[in-house]
Amino acid sequence: MTKIIAIDGPAGSGKSSVSKQVARSLGYGYLDTGAAYRALAWAVANGVVTGGLADNLADFDYSISLNPDDFWVRVGETEVTSAIRSTEIAENVSKVAQVPAVRSYMKSLTRRLVSESGLPGVVVEGRDITTVVAPDAENRILLTASEEVRLKRRSAELGPNGAAQVAKQVTDRDKSDAKVVDFMTPAPGVDLVDTSDLNFEQSVSAVLSLVERG
Ligand code: C5P
Repeated sequence: MTKIIAIDGPAGSGKSSVSKQVARSLGYGYLDTGAAYRALAWAVANGVVTGGLADNLADFDYSISLNPDDFWVRVGETEVTSAIRSTEIAENVSKVAQVPAVRSYMKSLTRRLVSESGLPGVVVEGRDITTVVAPDAENRILLTASEEVRLKRRSAELGPNGAAQVAKQVTDRDKSDAKVVDFMTPAPGVDLVDTSDLNFEQSVSAVLSLVERG
């Protein structure tokens, strides 16, 4: 059976980069579940999935790499790895993620990707992994950081011109996402790692020591 390290957290908590590094250190796969929601928003925006989402998810032909060193995302034959990081997608993804049929589809998709991976373990990161997708995971961790720190990290990724725009985008998206899943407070049994005062290496070590503890 493939082990699961479940990591949830808000935008800018550092969860993607930390999860990737934890996966490398353990020789595990890495699964970014937000990418599937983004790819679905891309498929809707590009007319690949049309009509009511609940009835047309079968048209969503999705594939993703679980290799932290060779990451790609595809819809059908189209590589969308960078396209799904656009501002347009970031602004529309929460709407797609609020559709109940989409959430249950993503839950099955994530479980299938892990079980078919053939890997000893997978670090799965998202918003509802510790609570809904993998509540029985070997490790369940909520990675947070203060709002100030999260905004700073996101702005740093986009450069000086992006700062104000990013601040609004991130807070709007978190507010919208928080309506359907609580990813700011740890559920019972979930370990909290606050990275506000930790650098990247320290955040990775904090997660790895929880994994070692079992
Ligand atoms: O992690 P990332 O910011 O790329 O996620 C993009 C969006 O996908 C989130 O804003 C949220 O709407 C949705 N999402 C979700 N549940 C997850 C992962 C992502 O609703 N497990």
